[in-house]
Amino acid sequence: MPELAYINGQFCSIEQAMVPLEDRGYQFGDAVYEVIVSYNGCLFCLEEHLIRLERSMQELLFPPISLEMIRNAICDLFDRANLARAEIYLQISRGVAPRKHAFMNTKDFQFVMTIRRIEEKLTTLREKGAAAITLEDFRWGRCDIKTVQLLPNVLAKQKALDAGAFDAIFVTKEGVVREATSSNIFIVIDGRLITHPLTPNILSGITRLVIIDICKDLSIPVEEQFYSTDDMYLSNEVFLTGTTTEVLPVVHIDKNRIGDGKVGPVSKKLYQELRGRIEG
Ligand code: PMP
Repeated sequence: MPELAYINGQFCSIEQAMVPLEDRGYQFGDAVYEVIVSYNGCLFCLEEHLIRLERSMQELLFPPISLEMIRNAICDLFDRANLARAEIYLQISRGVAPRKHAFMNTKDFQFVMTIRRIEEKLTTLREKGAAAITLEDFRWGRCDIKTVQLLPNVLAKQKALDAGAFDAIFVTKEGVVREATSSNIFIVIDGRLITHPLTPNILSGITRLVIIDICKDLSIPVEEQFYSTDDMYLSNEVFLTGTTTEVLPVVHIDKNRIGDGKVGPVSKKLYQELRGRIEG
């Protein structure tokens, strides 16, 4: 079976899949999402994604939706597509209703998904290390909720690509480093890892949590602390983490070379350990 779409219990080709014009996800960005990937025919961290999805829906005051139904639909889609290395995009909107800001009369959430095969595109970049730019964080104050309102992330990513970089890193006016457009960020200083603490200003990345857990196993100290762009520029290593990014070393940020400009040992080790957990 090839790549597929799912709409409220029905399966079809991605080209045939349609959502109603008055879906609140389409008109207001009133929807949450998750991206889940598989390796060797197994979905990685499915339960963690479901828990985060449920939290996102609760924070947006969606009516309760059965996680078991969502889990079954994901597994059904995954089984039908039969792709060993796949990416599932899942989106749940508050529903369809005549366009009004308030949502008290909205019924029936809309649940859509796609499953596509993944082509490994980051292999060379992971070996050489990526370049990034910093940009002032101009997103809303609830980046801990995984909503489809991603326009600042979209514009920032495009700006990075236009500047010849791989990604943009959001920083505050005061120079506090938050996260990248679709990944979390860690810096390494003298063998310690530092990453932004979980606040409403960043997403609680599943890969971030896996990396912190791996570090616990390896007795590598991790500090969930605020740090500045200067700390980042002067650090030994910087890397991004995300479901599709995995661990991606960054060796150049703005006009600064990070460390010696090569991928460092801690980033390399943590990528290998992450792959170990995936294979396991
Ligand atoms: N931050 C942002 C803004 C993201 O979009 C993502 C990707 N979902 C992440 C961090 C990383 O999260 P995860 O490791 O769960 O993919």
